[in-house]
Amino acid sequence: MSKNAMFDLTYGLFVVSVHADGRDNACITNTVQQVTGVPNRISLTLNKSNYTHDLLMKNGYFTASIISEAAEFELFRRFGFQSGRDADKFAGFDAVRRTQSGTLAVTQGTNSAITARIFHSVDLGTHTIFFADVVEEAVFSDVPSATYAYYHANIKPKPEAVGTTPDGQTVWRCRICGYEYVGEELPDDFVCPLCKHPASDFEKVVK
Ligand code: FE
Repeated sequence: MSKNAMFDLTYGLFVVSVHADGRDNACITNTVQQVTGVPNRISLTLNKSNYTHDLLMKNGYFTASIISEAAEFELFRRFGFQSGRDADKFAGFDAVRRTQSGTLAVTQGTNSAITARIFHSVDLGTHTIFFADVVEEAVFSDVPSATYAYYHANIKPKPEAVGTTPDGQTVWRCRICGYEYVGEELPDDFVCPLCKHPASDFEKVVK
């Protein structure tokens, strides 16, 4: 049995947005959770290499828009598979509402949004975990929240099986976003250029 027990953890999915230096940016995460009820507090973990992380360190407020089962893959492509350093992720996207804290809540493909202010953070090496007080909440729809498993089963496009390229090379596919790497061996330190997941999230595609 090759399955890793870590795969059985369940997660929600969120568009986490920030506003600093006159810019809006956002990324997709599965790392928001409530940590206490009174006071009402949540945590958020972000990779330090994310532009969203940079902006959040400057401003301290973020909005987690909760992705629903009505979300389309385009939402993930827009906010998850490009960097805010290279593109304005909100360009041409008007399904937003400006919160009183200055951040943008995403109102399409989501069911609600939670805005929070950071009061503590812990450096985890590759990531930072932020602890934050909830300061605003908004509900947009009754559509159930999408879990990470729901995304994999229903939202992510199902790529056609390929196996090998026409000239016989092996194909490795990212389980998260579908990116394909061609080569006999996938380097251990390979990182998906689209979604930034590691080599362990790639599978050898077999015909
Ligand atoms: Fe990927």
